Amino acid sequence: MKELVSVVVSCYNEEEVIPIFYDEIKKIAKKMDYVNFEFLFVDDGSKDKTLNIIKDLSKDDSRVKYISFSRNFGKEAAMNAGLSYSKGDYVVVMDADLQDPPKYLIDMYNYLKDGYDVTATRRITRKGEPMVRSFFSKMWYKLIDKMSDTEMVDGARDFRMMRRKVVDAILSLSEYNRYSKGIFSFVGFKTKWISYENVKRAAGKTKWSFWQLFKYALDGMTSFSTAPLLLASLFGILFCFIALIAIIFVIIRTLIYGDPVGGWPSLVCIILLVGGIQLLCIGTIGRYLSKVYLETKKRPIYIVDETNQD
Ligand code: UDP
Ligand code: MG
Repeated sequence: MKELVSVVVSCYNEEEVIPIFYDEIKKIAKKMDYVNFEFLFVDDGSKDKTLNIIKDLSKDDSRVKYISFSRNFGKEAAMNAGLSYSKGDYVVVMDADLQDPPKYLIDMYNYLKDGYDVTATRRITRKGEPMVRSFFSKMWYKLIDKMSDTEMVDGARDFRMMRRKVVDAILSLSEYNRYSKGIFSFVGFKTKWISYENVKRAAGKTKWSFWQLFKYALDGMTSFSTAPLLLASLFGILFCFIALIAIIFVIIRTLIYGDPVGGWPSLVCIILLVGGIQLLCIGTIGRYLSKVYLETKKRPIYIVDETNQD
């Protein structure tokens, strides 16, 4: 019996690239004729013809499977559904836009055969991406890697091939707020990293605006680090200390020079500063609290509308 490789592809409004992607992956599957394939497309509530295109493909090719969501749940949810519906001994997660080049599947598979449990990828350049975005991403990874106990690799992509046991480990984390980069790193296992230059999207447009990326980054932070909460306490200690010194200073000054009224502008500044920091800290706690709130509701991560995977 040949082993089965599941290719999980999350798609949101990707009608332009799916045919191109399918052609490419078919070529690779032909080259890798020593394993069987299933192509598991997760349609994340697309509003264009994505689902129809995938259904058409599945009519001619029994390897093509689809899961379609009742609405857009986001890429994390789509990946999660793909992993839990996949049947392969090995599972690959990739984007539909060919930014995760299928040609690497051969190497990825060979590394797993050599005894690794995961072959993960990272891009060493961010060519073709807006400069501001690259800059913030870089800073972001530096910061979160320091703040989190879980290792965060700069430029790591979700493109990876895993053994079944790794997939099961990932699925065993049942959290609602899923930050896959953190989850992948959290479960561990023997990982081989391969690097490549950034590839431009084959067609269509990116689904991420700067604001969305910013929110995603914050989510990652609250999911895998509690350092911001520590920061709130540190601010508290610092301000108590400053206040103490100021009190002693004011008392001594009053004893020596009496009590001339004045200095209200500086008072206003201090009140504003302290008020601002308090709000910042309450907001930070609020972020965590809102996560707890969402987790306790135990809502499903995604809702499947239709599928041909049994
Ligand atoms: N995607 C998804 N659901 C979403 C947004 C994106 O399944 O809500 C998929 C998208 O179809 C693509 C992958 O996630 O296959 C990566 O998206 P994109 O290429 O837009 O992101 P970028 O590569 O620019 O970071
Ligand atoms: Mg992309």
